[in-house]
Amino acid sequence: MIDLRSDTLTQPSDAMRAAMVAAEVGDDVYGEDPTTRRLEERVADLLGHEAALFTPTGSMANVLAVRTLVAAGQEVLCESSAHIARAELGAHAAYSGITMRTWTHPTGGIDLPAIEAMFAPDMGPFFVRTTAISIENTHNFAGGTVLRPADLDPLVGFARDRGVALHLDGARLWNAHVATGAPLHEYGARVDILCVALSKGLGAPVGSLVVGGREAVEESRVWRKRMGGGMRQTGMLAAAGLHALDHHLERLAEDHEHARLLAQACGVDPATVETNIVVVPREDAAAYVAAAAEEGVRISAVGPRAVRLVTHLDVSREDAERAAAVLARLG
Ligand SMILES: *Cc1c(COP(=O)(O)O)cnc(C)c1O
Repeated sequence: MIDLRSDTLTQPSDAMRAAMVAAEVGDDVYGEDPTTRRLEERVADLLGHEAALFTPTGSMANVLAVRTLVAAGQEVLCESSAHIARAELGAHAAYSGITMRTWTHPTGGIDLPAIEAMFAPDMGPFFVRTTAISIENTHNFAGGTVLRPADLDPLVGFARDRGVALHLDGARLWNAHVATGAPLHEYGARVDILCVALSKGLGAPVGSLVVGGREAVEESRVWRKRMGGGMRQTGMLAAAGLHALDHHLERLAEDHEHARLLAQACGVDPATVETNIVVVPREDAAAYVAAAAEEGVRISAVGPRAVRLVTHLDVSREDAERAAAVLARLG
């Protein structure tokens, strides 16, 4: 089976497992896990922020990050198919009392006129106040689409003018970095707080980080514990993340190449595929998924009229070519 359902399906490699076993560990709730500290410092540095916090999931990282910017009863604006709006099961409302309004963009990007029209300053006891705007890069449900650092600039200017904060859901920011060649800190510099995942394309088994100012990160540390996410010898997991940063970051370019190969086979213009996700419009999504599985290729339906293919560390060039042949044959 060639599994193209998600880049979360990767198995830790033997070398990653060896790094995990060898990790120096301590109790992270006591602040005594040296490997976790090392990972947090390294990721904060990469993104040009003061501090970072290891979390079990990207969803928890987003909940912690957004709540540092938005109080209960206030709102965050985001794109309508953003992960925070669609795939976190209402966590920002359920845990933090935050509401959302959304704009819609065909590639999950920034629609500044729509944001300007929605933006609500503090109007006392009359309207919900907008205190943050969240963007996603790469954009998962829009098909791994990329924002370049400069694409953020008009929004950054608007946010500064209005005193509204910016959150970046960068679960796959690594892919954007590799696709554009833009240094990670160029993204980091443009937002107040961001989240990155180790468990997607980087191929670690578990983990994400909240990255931002020292105060926001310390506040997130308190809330992580309050939510039951204070973990002990996390160094074994952090070691997987450090190994991934050393060995699996630049190779994401291969995943992007494999995705373009698959796009071509499915009749999608490869030039529109920027990273490792291909969304194929299919009227027969469920039947197509079943037919591909019969031929040894697992893909997923995203709604009744589209399927999604995701390339990753455990899909070799050979696998990608074989899957492309199968999908081309299915037509
Ligand atoms: C996967 C993902 C997350 C976090 O997912 P978890 O499964 O909770 O780790 C957040 N944002 C985006 C855009 C994602 O793709």
